[in-house]
Amino acid sequence: MKHRGNKTYRFYKALVIVVTFGLLLIPGYALAHISDIMSDPTPHHPAYIQSRDDLKTVVIPPRSSPYHLNPLSTMNLDIAELIQQVDESLILGYLENLTSFGPRLSGTIACNLSAQYLYETFQGMGLEVRYHNYTDYTVSGRNVEATLPGTGSDNIFIICGHYDSVASSPGADDDGSGVAAVLAAAEVMRNYEFFHTIRFVAFSGEEQGLVGSSHYAEDAYAANETIIAVLNADMIGFAPLPSDGTKGKIFENEASEWIVQYSQAVSQNYWDYIGIELTPQGETWGSDHYSFWQYGYDAVFYHEHNFNDYYHSANDTINHMNLSYSSRFTRLILATLAEMALQPRPVLEISSISGGLGITTQVRNVGELNASDVNISISLTGGLLGLYDMSSITGVDLLAPLESTQHKAIPFRIGTIEIEVAAWASNADQVTKHATGFLLGPLVLRLVVTP
Ligand SMILES: [Zn+2]
Repeated sequence: MKHRGNKTYRFYKALVIVVTFGLLLIPGYALAHISDIMSDPTPHHPAYIQSRDDLKTVVIPPRSSPYHLNPLSTMNLDIAELIQQVDESLILGYLENLTSFGPRLSGTIACNLSAQYLYETFQGMGLEVRYHNYTDYTVSGRNVEATLPGTGSDNIFIICGHYDSVASSPGADDDGSGVAAVLAAAEVMRNYEFFHTIRFVAFSGEEQGLVGSSHYAEDAYAANETIIAVLNADMIGFAPLPSDGTKGKIFENEASEWIVQYSQAVSQNYWDYIGIELTPQGETWGSDHYSFWQYGYDAVFYHEHNFNDYYHSANDTINHMNLSYSSRFTRLILATLAEMALQPRPVLEISSISGGLGITTQVRNVGELNASDVNISISLTGGLLGLYDMSSITGVDLLAPLESTQHKAIPFRIGTIEIEVAAWASNADQVTKHATGFLLGPLVLRLVVTP
């Protein structure tokens, strides 16, 4: 049934677009737009651009120091207490306030008044708040950002949604639901302390092509901010059938799969308070998480299971939403965020591999916790006739934050060799690095680390 409904919707949307733009655009162009969006796994996309090609192209060097958290296996009672403070009446209040301005099209007075409302609401919670202004050739506007500083780390975790809407719609679900989640998270989290820094961000310019979030991610990247995870909520409040209310979608790229696993574990641990099972969907460029992907940050996009029948219409109203679903979905994102922000971790980094007499490697703990039972291995393969195969492992019981340890292996052969260095700990992810070199007895010459 679900599949059929989706097809009908897509056909309808295709028909509308063809009829609306068919006379204005050459047919090839209009068809390119339709196929670009139809090949994406969700219909949710910026309303006022034609295709992914209209988004800004970003070319950046790859980011280093991945910092992946593993989910905890048990429920944290503080977090259970925290998420129960999110209920339907809290969400409803924010939705009523947001929709009271009328359609929040970027650049209009209603949109600016919404920004002011968000600013003042965050301010009233006692949070640090700022406007993040941006100017683009299509639209200028402001994102609203509130910060809850971490007690022990500058690593940043973000919850976000977009507060702008299309011209004809009150945007209750798209994306009042996401912004209500951001506000609700801020309202309950401000009373607790977290190890890492949390940011609550509402973007505008989403419908014009993810413009607000693109500038935000660009500026964060330029400032070398260590954003570890971005949780983007866009349309989390439509569930007309009881069966829709127990399912949710999450979109991720390969680098962000750890966030999906983390959030799925959180959903299981706090099931009694959430009751939503998340299904990973893969990549889409249809919402603000995509801007963070472009700058090499890990981000996911939370989205309702049953796509809203009233999308981008005057009927995207609160009374077409399921507030139980919206508040439980908010709890899921909040619990994921809270648990991540509480959790310091050791993070290993292979900071160097060098040749000379033997091979020397240096491993550093770039995280915030002691790494326990650290192991470092150096493996060599190749040599004359490819017959050489050696491996050397060493270990230390403890590696404190910002400390390094060294391991040296002395081979004895002739020929070209492949080198693999790996480091792992009982409480940190394994990291590996590769290099090549030429062996002349115990001397390692022309060592080149693979980027
Ligand atoms: Zn949206």
